[in-house]
Amino acid sequence: MNIHFLLGVPVMGEMSPETVKTKITTCEVCERWDIQYSDITFIFDRWNGEDFISGGGEQFISQRLKDKLEEKKIKGFKTTPVNVKFSKQRGGVIRIGKGAYQDELPAFYHFQVIGKAEAALDDWYMILDPTECEGCKANNKMMTIEASKSRANPELTGKDIDNPLPINVYHATWKNNDIFLVSPTFKILTENFVDTLQELEIKINQKGGVWLRQTNWIE
Ligand SMILES: [Zn+2]
Repeated sequence: MNIHFLLGVPVMGEMSPETVKTKITTCEVCERWDIQYSDITFIFDRWNGEDFISGGGEQFISQRLKDKLEEKKIKGFKTTPVNVKFSKQRGGVIRIGKGAYQDELPAFYHFQVIGKAEAALDDWYMILDPTECEGCKANNKMMTIEASKSRANPELTGKDIDNPLPINVYHATWKNNDIFLVSPTFKILTENFVDTLQELEIKINQKGGVWLRQTNWIE
């Protein structure tokens, strides 16, 4: 089963300021925290039929992509319904593009990856303090510049970099999920997930599409 690193999906707008943001503590010992979003309204600048999108650092999928993922028994994510609307713009702006498969916004869902596996990511981080937290086993580290470039969406940067850092996933840690995290932020998709996107003719590695890079299993 081939696997791919998800570099980016189209950014079609943002979450409304009324979206509820809750700070949640993810580890009581070191007081690491994260932001959890609820009552999300996603505000589109425009929509051209995109099914897998992002905004504000979160990802969202359309009704038809959610249905297709469920039909294909794709595992490793959860969805929560969101409200959708268009941003207020001056007149004359076409909000539904020619590529759209219907003439109004479909229902969208907040898409959160819950699958997890482990990968060899030594080159991706600079360890600032090797001491591990007793609670969550995390240490204090920061992503290297090379890593930041290696995870960038080529559509946004203009071109893909030469010799990106690989993400090598330990096969034994894989729990048969079709989408999973190998760090808090890196998302990996299986060929099954990619096939499902292609069944809906979602663009892969082309302008306005979903950007992926093939990656590897290791023992
Ligand atoms: Zn901790």
